[in-house]
Amino acid sequence: GEDFDIVVIGGGTAGIGITASLLRRQPSLRIAIVEPSDRHYYQPAWTLVGGGAYDISKTVQPMASVIPSGSTWIQTAASVFDPNSNLVHLADGRSIGYRQLVVCPGLRLAWEQIEGLEDTLGKHGVTSNYRFDLAPYTWSLVKELKGGKALFTQPPMPIKCAGAPQKAMYLSCDHWLRQGLLDKVSVEFNSAAPVLFGVAAFVPPLMEYVKRYNANLAFSSNLVKVDGPNRIAYFDIRQPDGSVEWVAKSFDMLHVSPPQAAPDFVRKSPLADAAGWCEVDHKTLRHTRYANIFSLGDVCSSPNAKTAAAVRKQIVVVAENLLAARESREMATLYDGYGSCPLTVEKGKVILAEFGYGGKLLPTFRLDPTVPRFLAWLLKAKFLPWFYWHGFLKGREWLARPGSPT
Ligand code: FAD
Repeated sequence: GEDFDIVVIGGGTAGIGITASLLRRQPSLRIAIVEPSDRHYYQPAWTLVGGGAYDISKTVQPMASVIPSGSTWIQTAASVFDPNSNLVHLADGRSIGYRQLVVCPGLRLAWEQIEGLEDTLGKHGVTSNYRFDLAPYTWSLVKELKGGKALFTQPPMPIKCAGAPQKAMYLSCDHWLRQGLLDKVSVEFNSAAPVLFGVAAFVPPLMEYVKRYNANLAFSSNLVKVDGPNRIAYFDIRQPDGSVEWVAKSFDMLHVSPPQAAPDFVRKSPLADAAGWCEVDHKTLRHTRYANIFSLGDVCSSPNAKTAAAVRKQIVVVAENLLAARESREMATLYDGYGSCPLTVEKGKVILAEFGYGGKLLPTFRLDPTVPRFLAWLLKAKFLPWFYWHGFLKGREWLARPGSPT
């Protein structure tokens, strides 16, 4: 097979970003991107699409248009890692060799873990902002619902953009409130977690919105089965004594955030940790057992919020450390676990949650991060999508360096 200086697995947010960033540093590097899809998505805007605040067609571009010039796109899936031979075997039967490998194929949405769900998605009032083709269906359900019961679900962690399940609820409620319908809609948030949000500082302002929208919160309540035609959702509810109760709830609209896992070819590989994620040192993002392998994005094992915002910072860490390792220099760029979740609490207002390892608050701007702001909405709905296509994917590193203004 062919050999490259660097092989990048996945051409999503992390794969395109890191390739562009490496080529900006060293244009002569021979880099291959292994990516089967012919489309590239900007997923963070799907929450806005589900709330009727963004055009779905602006969240996708042809993959060919975002592959950095100077790199080689290999359009097939990676299927087997052979790290002892510095080889990756591909779904089309070929194998490619590398001096250094970057693993970033994202995570897998495990729809099949909820019985009956796949048969009813996109029908019978069952939707999810986690899919390009379904986010517009969320908005059409929200517009059509004039009363009844709306359920929103959140699966066990880790998931990408941990705030997305409740963002879907807030934007839906905001619409019903503005239409004068909210008193006819009963809203319930079922979360497998025991708390509303993992970083305590953001819970009080979120609770203000829960009260405003009169939403019920059901914690430790995990969706396990959906009967679409009869519009019934089944939950495992963990009791304080540890036992599990099975509860059926009827619905008119059901927004599902699916369980999420490492892709099988990573989970079953020598690169995986016990939970299946690509095992990296949390600070350097280098693999713990293979010195010429790095990983970033949703697939890597570091315990940060799995977000595009995290990827923005991880890129600098991986690019610097990979080049240092290449030149046998010390890896000096360390990741602080930064991730961000712009919580869309109403149309026009966002709580810009930014935090690192251990829930440490890491605000980019000198403003109280727990306050909902119109400026943060503009950042989320206007600036960040624009920057993604025109800056981020081209390797421009905006406020991404460790120690840059925070
Ligand atoms: P992805 O961007 O998902 O890319 C993975 C790529 O790998 C894909 O192109 C895929 O085709 C490819 N691939 C898969 N299998 C293989 C294989 N076998 N071989 C080769 N390639 C493969 N982030 C934020 O920062 N802010 C937000 O507000 C936000 N909101 C979100 C809302 C929703 C509804 C969703 C779904 C996500 C949201 N995110 C948000 C998260 C963000 O989109 C992800 O964290 C980010 O895309 C991760 O980048 P990635 O490159 O790791 O994965």
